[in-house]
Amino acid sequence: MTKPSPSDLAPAPRPDKGNAQAGRKAATGAYTPASVSPNRRGQRSFAIRLWSVRHSRLLEWVYHRFASVFLALHPLWRAIGYARAEAPVTVVERGVKGLLFDCRMCGQCILSSTGMSCPMNCPKQLRNGPCGGVRANGNCEVEPDMPCVWVKAWEGSRQMANGDAILAVQPPVNQSLRETSSWLRVTAAEAQARDNQTTTSGRPT
Ligand code: SF4
Repeated sequence: MTKPSPSDLAPAPRPDKGNAQAGRKAATGAYTPASVSPNRRGQRSFAIRLWSVRHSRLLEWVYHRFASVFLALHPLWRAIGYARAEAPVTVVERGVKGLLFDCRMCGQCILSSTGMSCPMNCPKQLRNGPCGGVRANGNCEVEPDMPCVWVKAWEGSRQMANGDAILAVQPPVNQSLRETSSWLRVTAAEAQARDNQTTTSGRPT
């Protein structure tokens, strides 16, 4: 019996299992998730999303001003009814954040903790840092042409005043909040907290 040569023992080259070959994969009838496949991403540019990460400090400042205005409008939201305001505000939120961050409307926004890089663009939807598959060039293992959203999140967070918020552990996504407005929920929660504080400190509301 002849001894096998080292080349006989070398593992056969593995086919690329990522979504890079999306067209070929689709031709086989294999499942390709519609919302994250490069078929769709290929038509989109990462340019704006990456711009947002590069300007995370500016966007953090803008967001804080915007949140203050939204909170100041609490009497208006209450008069209209938060539930009634939900639909129109969600439309605006989806449009603005969809453009700037490729927002997936998870309804529990953590952009200010993730360097303005939306974690829901991770194909694995990880909310607490990258998986072990980040490529050497910093791109995603599932979508090789896409920069890892967590690599970008770290870069963006390093520019932000409150960048260390990225170290906080995030709870799992509450799927029942999908397609709802984070803006309104945060505003309602902050207004409630402010009212509670005013009540316990004894000052008139
Ligand atoms: S974290 Fe959620 S709400 Fe915020 S941009 Fe991403 S999908 Fe949209």
